[in-house]
Amino acid sequence: MQTAHPTWIEIDLKQFRQNMSRIRSMIGKSRFCLPVKANAYGHGLAGIAKAAQEAGVDCLGVSCLQEGVQLRGAGISIPILVFGAIHEDQIEDLVKYDLEFSISSSLKADLVAKKLSRKCRVHLEVETGMQRTGMRPQTALALAQHLKTMPCFDLVGVYSHLATADRKADPVAIAQIQTFKALIQHPVFHQVSAHLANSGGVIHYPESHLDMVRPGLMAYGYPSTPVEGIAPCFSLKSKISYFKVVEAGVGIGYGHQYTTRQRTRVVTVPIGYGDGYRRALSHRGSVLIRGKRFPIAGAICMDQFMVDIGQHEAFVGEEVVLIGKQGHGEIPLTEIAALCDTIPYEVLCLLNGRIPRIFI
Ligand SMILES: *Cc1c(COP(=O)(O)O)cnc(C)c1O
Repeated sequence: MQTAHPTWIEIDLKQFRQNMSRIRSMIGKSRFCLPVKANAYGHGLAGIAKAAQEAGVDCLGVSCLQEGVQLRGAGISIPILVFGAIHEDQIEDLVKYDLEFSISSSLKADLVAKKLSRKCRVHLEVETGMQRTGMRPQTALALAQHLKTMPCFDLVGVYSHLATADRKADPVAIAQIQTFKALIQHPVFHQVSAHLANSGGVIHYPESHLDMVRPGLMAYGYPSTPVEGIAPCFSLKSKISYFKVVEAGVGIGYGHQYTTRQRTRVVTVPIGYGDGYRRALSHRGSVLIRGKRFPIAGAICMDQFMVDIGQHEAFVGEEVVLIGKQGHGEIPLTEIAALCDTIPYEVLCLLNGRIPRIFI
């Protein structure tokens, strides 16, 4: 049950649906697998998955068994592909919850064959330049031929992952695409769905679209280069929980890392690093109140932080925007990521389950 909470993540489903249909318009006949790993990039797993299913997305991508089970529990019935390497003790549940999963070595294939009598739908993962999980093309080919002879395997997919596709005309990406395309020419992959493109692939490498695409960050509204019609659907918001007037020369928060220069007004915002709002934002980040930017004052605490609003007015209960737009103001996710010395993906994923996701 969701109870009232003063900090929340708001998802604009209209914008999210627009992002998905914009991607559709770019990929022609390719199928659309939406990655929803890590709580749908922090957007909220079940809510995003339901919206995607209703919008006609063909498949959802998760990182691990647990996320797939959660989706089935939420009533999701479209195909779900588990990207990560599987572990022996997960095999029975992968099949029980009707999840498609990746085979990335013959060892893993043997483990599955030993455990299962019923058929499972698998995707062969091929190494083309990421050096993460996946078999080298020659080995993959041999295993594909072997899988086809084994009764427990239904080989439905073959895929690889691009390491540098955020850059246009990148030689590594081009080489990966070539390697992969050469492999899937083989007759054993006839009728097997080939997929390679992440967000960067969808944007910069149409030749990587193949049978299915897997754009994540772009679908949530953050393409690495602007794409018309695609925009964020995510905002992080809170409500002022406290107001006070502080005299000049007063230290604020743990370690008194911030000292007021003059008599000023200070408000408290009920979110902290315990929610995944990074402590690195202490006296670097800002927030929006009434559409205007104000600086974070002092160190971010586990559950709250303070903001110096100078001589401006603000009342307890008023809305604070930490990521997103308010009036004419905007705090983009990219700004927060830069201040934390990281990438947008990480900022989104770290915002944890204590913050409710509200779908509007
Ligand atoms: C995360 C992931 C994606 C999506 O990547 P984006 O950069 O968010 O588009 C696609 N494929 C696999 C295998 C992934 O793990």
